[in-house]
Amino acid sequence: MSSEGTRTPKPLRMCVRCQRIIDDPVLVGEVHTNSGPGWNVYACWRCAPLVPSAPDPLEIIEAAERRRRERRSR
Ligand SMILES: [Zn+2]
Repeated sequence: MSSEGTRTPKPLRMCVRCQRIIDDPVLVGEVHTNSGPGWNVYACWRCAPLVPSAPDPLEIIEAAERRRRERRSR
């Protein structure tokens, strides 16, 4: 008998900027979805200061609505 299988695998985190697998991820943002709990966005410590903070999803929706309205009024 072995205890293998009961061990939880270490989650793989990938840097959002350089796309390398990172051991010591830095949380740089969160992605929210309508269909689930969403997920976190990680970067390596080298890229973390260079990653722009994730835009607020509500702002994106509002900007899209605004654009749509402007297009319609033209
Ligand atoms: Zn990186």
